Amino acid sequence: MSLSLIKDAIAQKKMICPECKNPIQKCDKYAETIDSVWEGCGDSKIDSRGSRITLICGNGACVWQERTEFWADYIKAE
Ligand SMILES: [Zn+2]
Repeated sequence: MSLSLIKDAIAQKKMICPECKNPIQKCDKYAETIDSVWEGCGDSKIDSRGSRITLICGNGACVWQERTEFWADYIKAE
């Protein structure tokens, strides 16, 4: 499940804020997305199967937050 992946990543401080480079502290408003989306025309199919969530930095004065389907991009690689 995506939500448990996200929560694990946050708990293990692997989800990194792009602004202050500290671990993201919170997430909110998790939602499953619809299968896949066709964007534009031709072969530009984007498979957005998965989930959307609001990521909230929550570190000190940093106000970064983002609603995204591409939350995996914020998980730091091992
Ligand atoms: Zn931040």
